[in-house]
Amino acid sequence: MTDNPFFEAFSAPFGLPDFDRIEASHFPPAFERALAEEAAAVEEITQNPEPPSFANTIEAFERSGRLLDSVSSVFFNLRASRSEEALEKVARDYAPKLALHRARIAQNEALFARVAALHESREALSLAPDQLRLLERRHRQFVREGALLEPGQKARLLAIEEALASLYTRFGQNLLHDEERGGLVLETGDLEGLPEFLRAAAGEAARERGFEGRFFVPLSRSAVEPFLSFSPRRDLRRMLYEAWTNRGAHQGERDNRPLIREILDLRAAKARLLGYESFAHYQLDEAMAKTPAAALSLLAKVWEPAKRKAEEERALLLSLARREGQNEALEAWDWPYYAEKLRRERFALDAAETKPYFALDKIVAAAFAVAGRLFGLSFHEREDCPRYHPDLRIYEVRDEKGATIGLFLHDNFARPGKRSGAWMGSYRKAQSLDGEVLPIVVNNNNFARGNPTLLSFEDAKTLFHEFGHALHGLLSRVRYPSQSGTAVVRDFVEFPSQLLENWIADKEVLRRYARHFETGEAMPEDLFSRLVAAHRFNQGYLTVEYTAAALFDLALHRDGPAPDLDIDRYEKEFRERIGVPAPIALRHRPAHFQHLFAGAGYAALYYAYLWAEVLDADGFAAFKEAGNIFSPALALRLRRIFEAGDSKEPMELYRAFRAAEPQLAPLLESRGLETAEKRVEDPADWSKKEGPLSSTEKRRRRRR
Ligand SMILES: [Zn+2]
Repeated sequence: MTDNPFFEAFSAPFGLPDFDRIEASHFPPAFERALAEEAAAVEEITQNPEPPSFANTIEAFERSGRLLDSVSSVFFNLRASRSEEALEKVARDYAPKLALHRARIAQNEALFARVAALHESREALSLAPDQLRLLERRHRQFVREGALLEPGQKARLLAIEEALASLYTRFGQNLLHDEERGGLVLETGDLEGLPEFLRAAAGEAARERGFEGRFFVPLSRSAVEPFLSFSPRRDLRRMLYEAWTNRGAHQGERDNRPLIREILDLRAAKARLLGYESFAHYQLDEAMAKTPAAALSLLAKVWEPAKRKAEEERALLLSLARREGQNEALEAWDWPYYAEKLRRERFALDAAETKPYFALDKIVAAAFAVAGRLFGLSFHEREDCPRYHPDLRIYEVRDEKGATIGLFLHDNFARPGKRSGAWMGSYRKAQSLDGEVLPIVVNNNNFARGNPTLLSFEDAKTLFHEFGHALHGLLSRVRYPSQSGTAVVRDFVEFPSQLLENWIADKEVLRRYARHFETGEAMPEDLFSRLVAAHRFNQGYLTVEYTAAALFDLALHRDGPAPDLDIDRYEKEFRERIGVPAPIALRHRPAHFQHLFAGAGYAALYYAYLWAEVLDADGFAAFKEAGNIFSPALALRLRRIFEAGDSKEPMELYRAFRAAEPQLAPLLESRGLETAEKRVEDPADWSKKEGPLSSTEKRRRRRR
């Protein structure tokens, strides 16, 4: 027994981290030891007198950072789910150290010389396909991280990586600060027009924060969007909207805007050093899309039809607002409110009516059942495992034969100290380099707690989305840790997650699992039809807010920063340039665009969601065509994608599953958008302004 849980094997079941023992003070010594261990392991590889072989170099390198992987994954997952100042301090201290450490390894000349020698003779090494891919990707990674640079350039790159890591940490911390301190405190009288579930959630949020007898709407998407949709109080909607969209953009020491400029400068310098035209070119070189032009071309196919659809929607909302006596311009804080009203009017669909069918427990059960029918998995709750917060639920996952394949951690509620949004993380990755290592994956959501917790349809899709990532981690069957689960290129990683969303939107699944939390009754047929019909509603708005953000990201990282970049002005001019309809904001405004600036993971890669959506819409169409969304033959082929991680090329995996090239049409169809070409052929649709569904309905009738 030592006094640091990281210095011995975790004693909890399945080697789950000993959450009940781990404290912030354990991390600095654990990081120090882990960094030293990996440095020593790398030293040992480079000092090996034997000539380089795959085993003594690439495999040895795969083994080199075990403690560091363990400490880092516990640290970063814990910090995202249950932050506290002591952990934030460790992050500030260690993020730059870790970045420097990684960059030093990438620039280790002796190590690279061995990798390069192997890469040179790769065809003669009789490697298995996963090994060959690992060698090629590893070599590429070294080159992309500066292995071929001159010494002076290498030093410059090290400094850039270290500085970027600090900036990313500060960006995320500033945002967390604003999210925790922001929000709307309400009195009983302010709740007018809000459905019961929102009142209850606002009451609960207030109690958690000690605002007894009052109500609170925190700055998290799953709290903000419903309030904007339901509150008839325009003044409150505006106040909340402005707090929400100005996160990270408050003058003073926590302003994220100056950090953006520094980040962009450093990224542009890094790209130049490595011989790329821009940081966007650097990032996309490692993605399926390969070039910014290819990503832009996909976004462009969606952009014009989306804008047209949003304009149609805007006209409808405006006329509704006028009818209700609102004579001012339709502002951003009005759109969700009138959209919700119109949804109720047009489809007789009220979010308050559907919510009782989306109790959190039922949707979790639906997710588990879908995983069961597709992949034969079952989920068994474990009460005997330590947890880092009482909200956490832990499940042992078994395959069809009853063998344990991993642990699934589910952390569903918003609370102070938790990062906003929804995400999947891994405490341990599946691999079998030295015997089978089972994965431990976590899904985080930020649902507003209720009694019971009732989700919106969007929330339910988010839960399925993250669960898709979790299955990617859980089903992984690879030899090498760096090919495990979600370690695929960024514009492929959203394929499993987005694909899975289709099941919770399917009639068969909804009918069976979307049951009323009080009566247990299945969703009435007519409510279900209305829900499906309303599914395409507001897609113009949603596609515009997303696509504008993706175009913005690519432009920003392709153009590079101007010498005196004013990000607010840049955003404004960009919007004008591409013609974003006035009341629609970018889905994430720059000062809180964590995808881009709290790390480099999605920088210049935010388009990846749409890229993957081409695949997921096309992929789900395969199940539809088969007439069975649980087709065993297709599910088995799909499973191969989940199992393969990065051990195979993504398009090769996709083609093997689909037995065809992916097509764009299913995506446009699922979003209810039409191609520009279609419009030109069919000018009659232009004059039709009666509703978002009109042109689609016509088109469908004609097709029949
Ligand atoms: Zn995702």
